[in-house]
This record gives sequence, structure tokens and C-alpha cells, in this order.
Amino acid sequence: MNGFITGNLARIERRIDKACKASGRHRAEIKLLLATKTVTAAQIGVAVQAGYTLIGENKVQEIRDKFEALKETTHDCHFIGHLQTNKIREVLKYGVSCVQSLDRPELARKLHGELQRSGKTLDVLVQVNTSYEQSKFGVHPREVTDLIKQVAPLATLRIKGLMTIGMLSADPGKARQCFRLLRDIRQEVIAARIPGVAMHDLSMGMSGDLEAAIEEGATILRVGTAVFGQRPTPDSYYWNESAP
Ligand SMILES: *Cc1c(COP(=O)(O)O)cnc(C)c1O
Repeated sequence: MNGFITGNLARIERRIDKACKASGRHRAEIKLLLATKTVTAAQIGVAVQAGYTLIGENKVQEIRDKFEALKETTHDCHFIGHLQTNKIREVLKYGVSCVQSLDRPELARKLHGELQRSGKTLDVLVQVNTSYEQSKFGVHPREVTDLIKQVAPLATLRIKGLMTIGMLSADPGKARQCFRLLRDIRQEVIAARIPGVAMHDLSMGMSGDLEAAIEEGATILRVGTAVFGQRPTPDSYYWNESAP
């Protein structure tokens, strides 16, 4: 298992390096987040040992299940799945440092309320549905600036940028269009000069499309399968419970 994971990480590093060279970017500008849905704490431990300390979980249940086993392992956990408001308290309890899937004002208000009670702050990214697919979560591209205007005054939430899932398609150009759109939306938000809003991060690019994401400006890649192997559960289970 260890060799499988570390070998895969080395392969991904080579892909990242190549895409950085192709686009004149520096490896240091890009974080590799490991998407660890369905991955065991032991597998995560191998990656952390190898120096990959940023992980992303989609379900509060999984964070809870792995919490004890990972308690002594220095790592940073982002939440990258659909967050139901009744799970907010738990997400914060387990020390998630960033919610990458902020997609509605109600979620922002409830996060803010809970954070105020505990005297904490939280980094957030706004998830954008750049593929316009019904089955995907995220705010509509036209509504991003408006949502950010509503979230910005909530002082416990520190907006750091945007996140998206590129369109999964045999045509890699489709994902690239999504990434380009996310980059354009970032420019639009920057141009709106909303106080207290940082737009540094673009979280985009997964196992199948990380090169395009790097070339379009990703600062956070989220990679699962290419590190840990195929998952037993279809992604629709994580991305939208109501999808077929
Ligand atoms: C599963 C998942 C990923 C990683 O996908 P892979 O194709 O396995 O690399 C990235 N982002 C989100 C939101 C995910 O749910």
C-alpha cells in the first residue's frame, strides 16, 4: 500500500511539474490537496508521512470516523462536499480549517452564527457551478459576486477565493472551459472591490484534468483517484444525493 501511494504521488508531481513548465508557473504556487473520501486513515497516514498534509473530505461522517485515528497526525482538513446546515456544528468541532463549498447565503449565515458563539473564524471558498450541470452543487456563475457581497460583512468568514468541479467529459477542453470561467469570475469579483474579500485561491483540477487547471491558474488541486486508486462509491453519491 505504501509503495502504491508514494509511487502515485511521484507520478502526480511529474505531471504538475510538466504543466508548470508549460505555463511558466512555479510549483510552490500550487497546493496539492488529497481528496480522501472513502480512503482509510491508514492510507491518509502514508500520504501525510510523505509530506502531503492537506486533505479534503466530502462527508462529516467520514471526518468523524477517521478523527481518532488521525488525531496525532499533523494535517489540515478542508471540507469539499455539500454542507448541510445541520452538520455545521460538527464540521467546526472537528477542526476543519476551510469550507471550500460555500454556495448559499443561508449556509454563510449559519456558519457565522456558530463561529460567533465559539469565537472562531473560518476560511471559505465559494463553490461555483461552472459546468451548469443540474447535478452539480455550487452557485450559478452569474450569482457569484452577489453572494460574495452578502457574505463579506460576516466577519467570522474569510473569503479566500473560488472552487469548482470541471465538467467530466471525454473532451478535456470542456473542463478547461470551466476553469477559464472560474478565473474570469475571480476577475469580476476583484473588479467589484468588495471590502474584506481576498481572491487568491482557485481550487480546481482533479485526477483527470489537473494539467488544464494548472495552465488556467489553479492554486489548489484536489486529487483523489490518481493517489489512492479507484473508489468503490460513485461520485454522484458525494456530489449530489438527488442525482441518478
Ligand atoms: C472526489 C473529489 C475530488 C477528486 O476527484 P478525483 O477524480 O478522484 O481526483 C475533487 N474534488 C471534489 C469536490 C471531490 O468530491
